[in-house]
Amino acid sequence: MTKATDERIITGVLADSEEQATELSLRPKYLREYIGQSKATDNLGIFMKAAKSRGESLDHVLLHGPPGLGKTTLAMIVANEMGVEIKSTSGPVIEKSGDLAALLTGLQEGDVLFIDEIHRMAPAIEEILYPAMEDYQLDILIGQGPAARSIKLDLPRFTLVGATTRAGMITAPLRARFGINLHLDFYGEEHLREIILRSAKILNVPIDLAGATEIARRSRGTPRVANRLLRRVRDIAEVLHSGEIDAPVAADALDRMEVDKFGLDEVDRKMLTTIIEKFEGGPVGVSTISAAIQEEKDAIEEMYEPYLIQIGFLNRTPRGRIVTRAAYQHLGFPFRVNEKIMLAEQNRLFS
Ligand code: ADP
Repeated sequence: MTKATDERIITGVLADSEEQATELSLRPKYLREYIGQSKATDNLGIFMKAAKSRGESLDHVLLHGPPGLGKTTLAMIVANEMGVEIKSTSGPVIEKSGDLAALLTGLQEGDVLFIDEIHRMAPAIEEILYPAMEDYQLDILIGQGPAARSIKLDLPRFTLVGATTRAGMITAPLRARFGINLHLDFYGEEHLREIILRSAKILNVPIDLAGATEIARRSRGTPRVANRLLRRVRDIAEVLHSGEIDAPVAADALDRMEVDKFGLDEVDRKMLTTIIEKFEGGPVGVSTISAAIQEEKDAIEEMYEPYLIQIGFLNRTPRGRIVTRAAYQHLGFPFRVNEKIMLAEQNRLFS
């Protein structure tokens, strides 16, 4: 291995553990510290209170929404509020049925089992979950061939919290077994500002309201991005300015990182520009976009496009993705009426 790759791997690992360590300290522990998402949290609060007062475990909870919006945080809050332990895993990590069986049998009454990316679980493993969720029973096969026999084990009454970025990819039988189904939306500017001010206080970063607003505006509606930008803006503020983050310092730092006024980064811009320049603004299928910009299809669908759709820069149609007039304007392209769309529309109207 060359020195350069060594260094890159080391810095990569350091950056990761730095992010993990700060996320740990910044993560709200109780519902009252969790900012925004009141549509989801108000109901969750009521369900937890009711379950607690009846002395029962909470019903299974499915959380869906784009990455970084606070699904893992909510799962941990459920465990803290209910006063139970949490065991965490993720769909693709559970390779064998024995892995899931070990997790389930290790739970205590009322405990939370958190499965991130639950839509990526193998079908054979998912089937073990059905009786576990419904009847708190585990059916396992012992031995092989003619000597194999199936035994049933009773499980404690646990709460499964599943998280997914792709609600549409959850199978119907799995979805039906969740009693509580909560959707997390992108955060508005005010809630993000509140999150940034809270994080700045914990991390001891001097920041004023306008500075926090500037970072909030460019955080793609996502707390994880807000916290990450705050840390990087702090670095730039300390090295190039007095250390205090006000609006001009935040704007300078974010411009240096090429995070624009809408929070778009290089990949977002590349994706929109490519659709405009190579595909006349669309409609173009996501696989074609993926090949053209060399980003994984899943990443486009889970990470990039939901926010672009939310801010009205991209439309998802049955024939593919279309860049909107607002995006043309933001990126400085003259808007051209797309003849393909006009024609298709005319055909639809007059056929
Ligand atoms: P997800 O599981 O949806 O990818 P996380 O729960 O890991 O997202 O959240 C990412 C980070 O964002 C957390 O470490 C936490 O600090 C912060 N965060 C998320 N939601 C909130 C919130 N509602 N209030 C304050 N901070 C939040």
